[in-house]
Amino acid sequence: MFRDKVDLVIIGGGIIGLATANEIIKTKKNIKILLVEKSSEVASQQSGHNSGVIHSGIYYKPGSFKAKFCVEGRASMTEFCEKNDIPVWTCGKLIVATNKSDVERIDNLYQRGTANKVEGLKILTPEKTKEIEPHVQCLKALHAPKTGIVDYVKVTEVYADKFKSVGGEISLNTEVLGAKIQNKKLIIHTNKGDIESNKVINCAGLHSDRIAKIFGYDANLKIIPFRGEYYTLKKEKEYLVKGLIYPVPNPELPFLGVHFTQTMKGFVEAGPNAVLATKREGYRKRDFSLKDSFETFTYKGFWKLLKKDWQTGLWEINRSLRKSVFLKSLRLLIPEIEKNDLQAGGSGVRAQAVAPDGSLIDDFRIESSENAIHVINAPSPGATSSLVIGKHISKMALKELNL
Ligand SMILES: Cc1cc2nc3c(=O)[nH]c(=O)nc-3n(C[C@H](O)[C@H](O)[C@H](O)COP(=O)(O)OP(=O)(O)OC[C@H]3O[C@@H](n4cnc5c(N)ncnc54)[C@H](O)[C@@H]3O)c2cc1C
Repeated sequence: MFRDKVDLVIIGGGIIGLATANEIIKTKKNIKILLVEKSSEVASQQSGHNSGVIHSGIYYKPGSFKAKFCVEGRASMTEFCEKNDIPVWTCGKLIVATNKSDVERIDNLYQRGTANKVEGLKILTPEKTKEIEPHVQCLKALHAPKTGIVDYVKVTEVYADKFKSVGGEISLNTEVLGAKIQNKKLIIHTNKGDIESNKVINCAGLHSDRIAKIFGYDANLKIIPFRGEYYTLKKEKEYLVKGLIYPVPNPELPFLGVHFTQTMKGFVEAGPNAVLATKREGYRKRDFSLKDSFETFTYKGFWKLLKKDWQTGLWEINRSLRKSVFLKSLRLLIPEIEKNDLQAGGSGVRAQAVAPDGSLIDDFRIESSENAIHVINAPSPGATSSLVIGKHISKMALKELNL
């Protein structure tokens, strides 16, 4: 054993693992929680490689977890940041219609957002749109004034500090490799040695399906990694973007389309696309893992997805390889952007759960099994919703794990 027995092990030092840890320790004083993270720092994966947007909850199906958690999450995230001196900027967002079918979808999005109780939504004419974003060209736009931006690495770090300040323990560089039940005790194997724990919460993001299996739970889906690549706007051209400018998304896909985002890191980003990654933590085009690729390419859900959406897949690869194609997507939003205005930026990898029938799981999926809770699917707006997701998991843990 590398440490004494604990009441609960949380696997994953991303924004959701840490939000959950905080919520549980707040609710159940004196509980011994150990959070293990395989990297040398918190927020090293999705939580540290995203667009940094505090979403307002427009896109999501009314009644879904995403709709409920995001609307509540936006308010609680903004308030949390203000209380904890984390710089946050409610810059507002435009979703812009650039063709006839978009125009109809804008109306649908407005209705959806209104059903979800998103505050302040307004449909704008092209003239009114230009008052907010002078360089945007569109037929119509939807304005969400409460959408904001933040650096989610900072948010996760503050969650970690708060957790430690009330007695929580974080073990970095600690990777969960396996588990067994021995004499009715749950023993978790890590690269640093074994841990005995009563219960487990799996917040392992890109590895959540594998971790679930380690604890004997088959969620009947697989995580397929989709890389999102960004460009940054060169400094002289940042004036073209005042806040957040999004296209109307394809309603068949859970991705929002390449957009322009002001960031709290001091630059403007354009992206992300959504291209299949051949490694779960494959941030560069050349990153490859035989194990991860084998799992993807031998999964029947992947082939069914490909059969349905091969054209989108090819288009995304083309856009990933050719800056001119990426530029074409961006020019639909701001026609005066030039190729030289774009500089290669960072990337993120989405943990997208795919069902055996090839459908992309859209909503958050959090499930329980004996002794464990598994966050199986936590895509965007997971960071926005993290405080609310943490509360939800905490309630589940008290009830279903008898913490
Ligand atoms: C490109 C992109 C853009 C996005 N944009 C936004 C946005 O603008 N707004 C928004 O709200 N959301 C956004 N999201 C979604 C958001 O980032 C995620 O919902 C959120 O970060 C998920 O957090 P997490 O803690 O579940 O996962 P992660 O941050 O991936 O954390 C999981 C952690 O588990 C650890 N781990 C994995 N396996 C093990 C193991 N065996 N042992 C120990 N530790 C392990 C990993 O190292 C990792 O740190 C975006 C995501 C991406 C990828």
